[in-house]
Amino acid sequence: MSIPIHQYDAVIVGAGLAGLAAARELKSAGKSVVVLTKLHPLRSHSGAAQGGINAAFAAEDSVELHEFDTVKGSDYLADQDAVEFMCKTAPELVRWMEKMGAVFSRNEDGTIAQRPFGGQSHPRACYAKDRTGLTLLQTMFEQTNRLGVDFLDEWYVADIVYEDGVVKGVVAYDIKTSESAIFNAKAVMFATGGYGRAFKINSNAHANTGDALSIVARHGLPLEDMEFVQFHPTGLAGTGILMSEAARGEGGKLLNSKGERFMEKYAPSKMELGPRDLVSRSITQEVLEGRGVGPDKDAVYLDMTHLGEELIMERLPELRDLAITFLGLDMVKEPIMIAATAHYSMGGVPVNIAGNVKKNAKEFVTGFYAAGECSCVSVHGANRLGANSVLEAPLFGRHVGKTIVKDLDKLKLMEINESVAEGMVSQIKRLIENNGAEKVSSLRGELQASMTENAGVFRTKESLEKQIKIIKELKERYKNIRIEDKSKVYNTDLQEAIELGHMLDFSAFIVEGGLMRNESRGAHFRNDYDSRDDKKFLKHTFAYMDKEGNIKIEYTDVSLGKFEPEARTY
Ligand SMILES: Cc1cc2nc3c(=O)[nH]c(=O)nc-3n(C[C@H](O)[C@H](O)[C@H](O)COP(=O)(O)OP(=O)(O)OC[C@H]3O[C@@H](n4cnc5c(N)ncnc54)[C@H](O)[C@@H]3O)c2cc1C
Repeated sequence: MSIPIHQYDAVIVGAGLAGLAAARELKSAGKSVVVLTKLHPLRSHSGAAQGGINAAFAAEDSVELHEFDTVKGSDYLADQDAVEFMCKTAPELVRWMEKMGAVFSRNEDGTIAQRPFGGQSHPRACYAKDRTGLTLLQTMFEQTNRLGVDFLDEWYVADIVYEDGVVKGVVAYDIKTSESAIFNAKAVMFATGGYGRAFKINSNAHANTGDALSIVARHGLPLEDMEFVQFHPTGLAGTGILMSEAARGEGGKLLNSKGERFMEKYAPSKMELGPRDLVSRSITQEVLEGRGVGPDKDAVYLDMTHLGEELIMERLPELRDLAITFLGLDMVKEPIMIAATAHYSMGGVPVNIAGNVKKNAKEFVTGFYAAGECSCVSVHGANRLGANSVLEAPLFGRHVGKTIVKDLDKLKLMEINESVAEGMVSQIKRLIENNGAEKVSSLRGELQASMTENAGVFRTKESLEKQIKIIKELKERYKNIRIEDKSKVYNTDLQEAIELGHMLDFSAFIVEGGLMRNESRGAHFRNDYDSRDDKKFLKHTFAYMDKEGNIKIEYTDVSLGKFEPEARTY
């Protein structure tokens, strides 16, 4: 076996907003940096963000209100020091993006336009029509290219090199040729995004398979708050493709089969602009009680017809197109059908504000960093507010980039042997040569359907226990898979098989965390414990997986601050 070893100051895995912002900092400081990404950077899921990015600009708004909304929205599980840092930095971050060339939608007087989003005290989401993420991603990509950052796209990172408490690099292969390589670096940063693909109905890109989560967990490192998966209220019926919260921000109404505007019952003051967890549960409740619409009565109406064609074409053109393409419904003329869809992952790789990955509640891993959706810092706690994540990714990405620039003075390039790639190489060999009877697509379908059913919007002890059993069985069956494509060129069968392995591992964390958390908080709702229990569970979950795949759960303190936990009503 002869595997090339490339050396860099820093390796960044992921070219979404978080990874690009970090790469820009490193390159501008003259460091050698490579960005490894399994997609072309502009295909990263950041580019799918439609609705907006929060910053308190308006005279009636304030950083403190932004902080308060975020902490309340998080059901008090967010770390308030991290929230404070994010909300304080947000206005400067948006200006920074603007100066680099991001074109935001504007008011008549030339100021950046802001639209209302769920759970906000004041309209705070800056936007570029309904293509905010794409605008920002293109801007960051241009800037990193201008500086000459090295990109290796269509490279799949399969492992970290983690020895003696230090991350020394990553092991990856070129998707185009299946050639392996080792990237040896003083610092490794994960910016690999979310993991909504574990669910059948979801809004996420195909690539959002949470690879980094299980890569980290398989080394015995913890994952934080994985039970908190956000279900967005408005996914297109049947597919889950996102209709941004901007649709409700601009005035969209939710109606059940009787034509009732049912949010009056659930959130009388905020109505459709209640926070996502609450609106998703309300929609699902209407469906469960028989007031759904559509052929299977499993959706409700989102009615935008009163907004008029001009406004829809000016502010929501992409949404209109998506609904026409995937549902055959034109929102200008008729209500469209939507239901809750798995959307965002609040949990992830635990980090501090500077981006250092935690080894446990007290210690850190040397040379290892993370930012963006794959990380848990935790600014979203148990429920993220809309437009806070397109904010979090570049804001913390940039900050972590700065941290690494500083840390590089004391970090050393640790020698590694090519034997570190043995795990990945033998895994690929096994997957290609295995001649079992199970198909990747069937196992993945079963995982996704059962996660949506048993660990979705509503959960119970029984449903979660059932799901733990299902995942165990699927893991056994996974040992017996067979892939048809045995070639080395663009072997997507192979990649999907590796990704399914990751999905099975991190899904177990979602379910076990949910089973242990005997309360309802934010996005985690237990029918059998339907209120929040601050005495026992105002705590972050830290979960560890052993070599046999068993998960051990510990709890750590939340960083509280000026906002005392109180009942969350809207
Ligand atoms: C449809 C949709 C709409 C959204 N709208 C909004 C919004 O309006 N406002 C808001 O605040 N948030 C929104 N969000 C959430 C927000 O867009 C994301 O949380 C954020 O953009 C994530 O950025 P990121 O940089 O962490 O990851 P991503 O942009 O997802 O990038 C992940 C990167 O990691 C790479 N990668 C992953 N695994 C590997 C691997 N094994 N090897 C190599 N590379 C790998 C990928 O190639 C990719 O480049 C939306 C999300 C969705 C799905």
